[in-house]
Amino acid sequence: MTARLLDGKALAQTIRSRLKGEVTQFLQETAIQPGLAVILVGDNPASQVYVRNKGKACVEAGMRSDQHVLPANITQEDLLNLVDRLNADPAIHGILVQLPLPPHINPLTVQERVWPVKDVDGFHPLNVGYLSMGREGLVPCTPLGVMEILKDAQIPLLGRQAVIVGRSNIVGKPLAQLLLREHATVTLCHSRTRDLPAVCRGADILIAATGQKRMVRGSWIKPGAAVIDVGISFEEQNGKYKQVGDVDTNEALEVAGCLSPSPGGPGPMTIAMLLRNTLLAARRQAGK
Ligand code: NDP
Repeated sequence: MTARLLDGKALAQTIRSRLKGEVTQFLQETAIQPGLAVILVGDNPASQVYVRNKGKACVEAGMRSDQHVLPANITQEDLLNLVDRLNADPAIHGILVQLPLPPHINPLTVQERVWPVKDVDGFHPLNVGYLSMGREGLVPCTPLGVMEILKDAQIPLLGRQAVIVGRSNIVGKPLAQLLLREHATVTLCHSRTRDLPAVCRGADILIAATGQKRMVRGSWIKPGAAVIDVGISFEEQNGKYKQVGDVDTNEALEVAGCLSPSPGGPGPMTIAMLLRNTLLAARRQAGK
């Protein structure tokens, strides 16, 4: 079997083009330009790239992008003061604090300070609670991106066995909630799960989000299953760093019914969902 490729990059581009039109229309109707503020603390090279890409994507979609680059030794109090100012700024509808933060800053304290209506990352406890209760809030971007990939590929979820490997607050747990909403039967695995390959083999939909390079082998996949590789790791090949995922792509292609690989799968969807959340936040703040 050769799996159908679910191209997250192409889907993200389609969604971003559509959003651009929606932003223009919103601006015409309300004279409000959605604005996203991104806060970067320190000089982590990967974070710098992510923040730059988010800013660029915002501008391309017709949104306002504010970037606040702060030194690694900034105090938590000064960072919280900036969050307070952005909370009160009517031109800013979404606030994102790029992780990781330096060790002297508590990420939970910072995430809790962002007003839930501007919390476009969906990490505030109120939004986490809303998600688990099935109420309207803001939902983390990477799980939203995975759901869009599944929806676009018309993968049936109702009553199906969905297995997620990885239980983080950013990916695994919110994704489990979203799949439950669609009536999948969800199994959430982690590093202590017994006989992980056997659990994975029971999955109609298998999603890997661990950061363990090529951990999911072809033999772990039920023939015909939908496989989504959220993992992003890097390894050196011929003096260059190459992105690799949690799934062995070549082996998976032989067994799965469809595969959204890494790179080229959920990664690009995260930014598209961030833009969508920012527009949603702006709409709600405008009472639309
Ligand atoms: P975390 O490190 O927070 O969580 C990893 C999870 O994987 C944990 O639940 C851990 O289990 C589980 N895990 C680790 N090793 C194993 C193993 N050998 N067997 C089974 N489970 C294991 O990672 P994140 O959720 O933040 O990210 C996961 C991956 O997704 C990373 O590669 C990250 O780069 C990528 N990612 C991609 C994004 C994107 O596409 N834009 C966004 C966010 C993340 P335990 O809880 O027991 O420790």
